[in-house]
Amino acid sequence: MSKDKLHVGFVGLGIMGRSMAANVLKAGHPLTVYNRTVAKTQPLKRAGAVLAASPAQAAAQSDIVISCVSDSPDVYQVVLEEKTGIIAGARQGSIVVDCSTAAPEVAARCTEELNKKGVGFLDAPISGGDTGAKNATLSIMVGGRKEDFDRVLPVLETMGKTIVYCGSSGAGYVVKLCNQILVSMNCWAVSEALSFAQAARIDMKSMLQAISGGAAGSWQLINLGPKMVAGDYAPGFFVDYLLKDLRIAHAAACDLKVSLPGTAVAESLFRAASSHGFGREGTQAIYKVISGLRSSPEERSKSN
Ligand code: NAP
Repeated sequence: MSKDKLHVGFVGLGIMGRSMAANVLKAGHPLTVYNRTVAKTQPLKRAGAVLAASPAQAAAQSDIVISCVSDSPDVYQVVLEEKTGIIAGARQGSIVVDCSTAAPEVAARCTEELNKKGVGFLDAPISGGDTGAKNATLSIMVGGRKEDFDRVLPVLETMGKTIVYCGSSGAGYVVKLCNQILVSMNCWAVSEALSFAQAARIDMKSMLQAISGGAAGSWQLINLGPKMVAGDYAPGFFVDYLLKDLRIAHAAACDLKVSLPGTAVAESLFRAASSHGFGREGTQAIYKVISGLRSSPEERSKSN
């Protein structure tokens, strides 16, 4: 490890965080990690990361502390909790980078509280799925002070390929909501096209091969279409996490007095998927809801 590399703390080693942290370590940054469920830290420990007993401890030695947890209340907990949160251990001059998908107001509050201690905050949510996290090809959309962005950029570059400064505090979270509006409708659209092809007895793999490179091609079609065809509903991105994101988008749209009619329908369909018991499956599980609208129970059991 090079001595001039920034020391990084990482909090939240879930589906995304574990691969992102591994890529930071691979790039030669000294790394301290914290995860609530300790067992998930073991592969990183074996790879050379130091384990911390709390987010505060992960922050104590670090120039940059990255968090990647589930929802807005979880960001408040790991960042702002008085005794164990990052704020309790963060060094003056360090920068906290939150990669979770959270509500825009989270950025304002974290920035305000951390700035009182001379610590910076960037909202830097991610897109690209578990494969993007593994391959260090994530898109990262960042809000906050530009000088903080410039300082953390070399570390973000170890995790992602498209890294864009979007503007002041909260801009990253808002851009991520734009992403989720598109993701929700696109995933629904892919499942609808596949359901139609299946009803017409078209070979679905040929259909995907024929159209993936054309005008309708998309990440959702290329990555989730084959999983829908194969009946592989293992999570890259949980249905319940997309619902969490759409709830945040809905609240923000109400504040902005903006109407999101397509997103509202998509939310309703993903909610149906969750209430059918698919909440901890990947978002491609919407296919089971959409194909269920078409087929008989007998056909449905064949396509599941
Ligand atoms: P995940 O696998 O469920 O991981 C969540 C992580 O957060 C776990 O390490 C969990 O700890 C930790 N955590 C949650 N609440 C916590 C709390 N209150 N205190 C301490 N630790 C807490 O989720 P993920 O798929 O990695 O997603 C993480 C974030 O990235 C979410 O905001 C998600 O919306 C976003 N995102 C996900 C994807 C994707 O494709 N998966 C893509 C883009 C963005 P435990 O291990 O103890 O549960």
